[in-house]
Amino acid sequence: MKVYISADMEGITGVVSNEDVTPGKMNYERFRNQMCHDVNAAIEGALEAGATEVVVNDSHGQMTNLLLEQLHPVASLISGVTKPLYMMEGIDKSFDCAMFVGYHSMVGGKGVLSHTMSGASSVQLNGRATSEAEINATIAGHFGVPVTMVSGDQYTVSEVREVMADVEGAIVKYAIDRLAARCLSPQETRKLIKAAAKAGAIKARSTKPYRLGSGAEYTFQFLQPSMAARAAILPFVEQLDVRTVRVRGVDAIDGWRRFWSALLLGRSAQPDAY
Ligand SMILES: [Zn+2]
Repeated sequence: MKVYISADMEGITGVVSNEDVTPGKMNYERFRNQMCHDVNAAIEGALEAGATEVVVNDSHGQMTNLLLEQLHPVASLISGVTKPLYMMEGIDKSFDCAMFVGYHSMVGGKGVLSHTMSGASSVQLNGRATSEAEINATIAGHFGVPVTMVSGDQYTVSEVREVMADVEGAIVKYAIDRLAARCLSPQETRKLIKAAAKAGAIKARSTKPYRLGSGAEYTFQFLQPSMAARAAILPFVEQLDVRTVRVRGVDAIDGWRRFWSALLLGRSAQPDAY
């Protein structure tokens, strides 16, 4: 069995603030280590369920957070930031399931560090507010790979289950606000993540991939007008109002590429927008 893990950082055990996930800030080194522990717990769970190969994709920020030397030796690590499929780089139809470790809830909510790709104040997929987890699940689904496990705060897990009811969830903290949470201990979350990953991997073959019925239409609002104006230079981007744009893709990957390239170009107008 081959398992794919996409690891973000906002939903890692103990993380509650932007400083916790920003290189150079006081707690960053602490939490990049914890990120590795959370990922290793998922790997251990997958191995207990019979996984023989694990690929981990570092999916946060500059995507060089995970330390290869700390990662479980069974896993290989995709590290670095220029990756066409970004948080899902490396996924293909050879995988039996995908797992999302350290994920966060969608922009606008009170989950810890909630956002949906930096730079946007709202993102809709096919007319409904969407999360990074859902977007990435459509990419896995395009390759026929089901998402079977997610870890993060309680909002992250419930949002994922709203669109994919079978996903196993490991709640590692309970958000009180976007910048506060009641955090479970690393010893406890290790058990929770491992158990959820194991249960998810066991039902990999019986879980349906998250496939979009039709194309992928993304409507999203930038934080600032200059960002939307710059994105609208792309010929496939339709500008709906001063901050809102829309792209249409024929399938999940096509939609993702249009969305992501428009977002990247928009963000180049204000690189610090988060
Ligand atoms: Zn992140």
